[in-house]
Amino acid sequence: MATAYFCFHSELSVFLKREWRGARFAYACARGANLKNAIEALGVPHTEVGAVRVNGDPATLQRTVREGDEVEVFAYAEVQSPARHFLADAHLGALARFLRMLGFDTLHDQALADREIRRIAHDEGRVVLTRDRDLLKCREIERGCYVRALKPEAQLREVAARYQLGAQARPFTLCLHCNLPLAPIAKDRVASRVPPRVLELHSAFTHCAGCGRVYWPGTHYERMRSALAGLGFTAP
Ligand SMILES: [Zn+2]
Repeated sequence: MATAYFCFHSELSVFLKREWRGARFAYACARGANLKNAIEALGVPHTEVGAVRVNGDPATLQRTVREGDEVEVFAYAEVQSPARHFLADAHLGALARFLRMLGFDTLHDQALADREIRRIAHDEGRVVLTRDRDLLKCREIERGCYVRALKPEAQLREVAARYQLGAQARPFTLCLHCNLPLAPIAKDRVASRVPPRVLELHSAFTHCAGCGRVYWPGTHYERMRSALAGLGFTAP
């Protein structure tokens, strides 16, 4: 065992036991533990950790904890690299739709087991969005985000701020159901698939090759557009 002293940035308090929040405290780490092991044993997934300083010097999560170390842990803060590809877990379907609405490739399949989420995240370099802390402690998940908010609009605001999505958004370019890119389609080719009134009023249509859904700037579109504007995104 090595007893080290830890101090976590206040944004990480949500993961810590009450008595450890906002305080410097001693913790006996398992023999040979590195910082990732120790920090996660205390409750904080590695994906939520930003900079770490040990005895005043920057350290990586692979550093072994030594007796008497003073460990200071900061929250994930700045964008490490822009994120465009996400994987939303089974409970975040509404957030997945919002992200697709903004044009961000977001995998969401309620049937995916944790094992598959870990594999896909690793193989495809996706940011895992979840409220499951244990999932984010898995080594294969290099980038992930513990979504703190419960309401989808607030969840989108949180993810958008963390990954600075505003500037990269391409609203209404992906199918909300399949996550596949939408392509323009001629009016005469959709005549049998949309209500006659819609055909009268609109001339621009897009469609999804996966599910065959046709999209047009109708009432549903307007509703989505105002929802996005309320979140600070400008839609075309
Ligand atoms: Zn589709």
